[in-house]
Amino acid sequence: MPHTLETDRANLLIVDDDVTVIQVLAKALAGVGSVRYALNGADALRLAESDPPDVILLDAHMPGMSGFEVLEALRSNQDLKDIPAICITSHSSQEMEEEGLAKGAADFIAKPFNPAIVAARVKTQLRLKRALDKLRQLSSTDALTGVANRRELDETLHQECKRALRSKLPLSVLLLDVDYFKTFNDTYGHAAGDEALIAVANAMLKATNRPADLVARYGGEEFSVVLPGTDGSGALSVATKLMQRIREKQVPHSGSPSGLLTVSIGIASLDPKANEWGESTESLRANSTSVEALDVPSTLLKIADQALYSAKQTGRSKAVLGQWGRAVS
Ligand code: GH3
Ligand code: MG
Ligand code: MG
Repeated sequence: MPHTLETDRANLLIVDDDVTVIQVLAKALAGVGSVRYALNGADALRLAESDPPDVILLDAHMPGMSGFEVLEALRSNQDLKDIPAICITSHSSQEMEEEGLAKGAADFIAKPFNPAIVAARVKTQLRLKRALDKLRQLSSTDALTGVANRRELDETLHQECKRALRSKLPLSVLLLDVDYFKTFNDTYGHAAGDEALIAVANAMLKATNRPADLVARYGGEEFSVVLPGTDGSGALSVATKLMQRIREKQVPHSGSPSGLLTVSIGIASLDPKANEWGESTESLRANSTSVEALDVPSTLLKIADQALYSAKQTGRSKAVLGQWGRAVS
């Protein structure tokens, strides 16, 4: 988890093949945060992956994997690419500093170092990291419900589509729309409407358990769930569980036939094992379009939207699994 509060204890990682240097740095940074250390690049990456640090102090010269190589490995890892790395070097040449900064180093410290200056520079990087984490969190979250916003949904869906096409693993998307919500607002007021949207978002979070699942507000009273590694029947069972969770909330809605707030759900799945995938690639071939050339994220949303429309047309408070053929032909 990113540290966002000033009072949180910082998680620091020192990487140097010289134990004496590690000892000096650990002492200098004892008051700044909790310190872990690694004696080589491979161990450093392993430690960073298991629990991403807030700041890394990285020796540029190490046998085997150099500090700059560690830096490149960090930058190419989605989960680690934003961790500030301060490079430490005994050869403080301008060329080295230039190379390190070009590779994404946040700062440079030359050996021998002054412990107070090291601590001050680490604190500066921590402040910047926390401000950036906060900014990233704000720009990816819906202010009312706290779930992901449309921007985050678009980005995640794009990434997951690429991953699904590459790995030939299934991927499903749910589009959810609250039933008779205009009447709900008209009857109970806009503030109660907002509360109902928060309840729906919480029910969605409860119904999705896998770490890669993403719940997002699509806009207004529409939400979306991205379910990586989940086929159509799995997505249908998530949708059923989700509707059950919302029913359990027992939000009264006099304008709805059931007397309770309900939702309708449209589902789209990319599934290499199911017919849908075969059908979709067949119809693409007929149109001489490759799967790669197709805008898969927007096609999935289009299919889910058509399925949602048919759920609305056939009585609401239900989930419908969309068909590929219709959207791509
Ligand atoms: P249907 O069952 O066909 O979905 O009917 P509906 O009334 O839910 O659909 P419609 O799209 O006509 O209405 C959506 C309404 O959602 C419009 C607006 O009053 C309400 N709404 C959209 N965003 C918000 C919001 O942030 N807060 C509140 N309280 N209401 C919202
Ligand atoms: Mg709507
Ligand atoms: Mg609606």
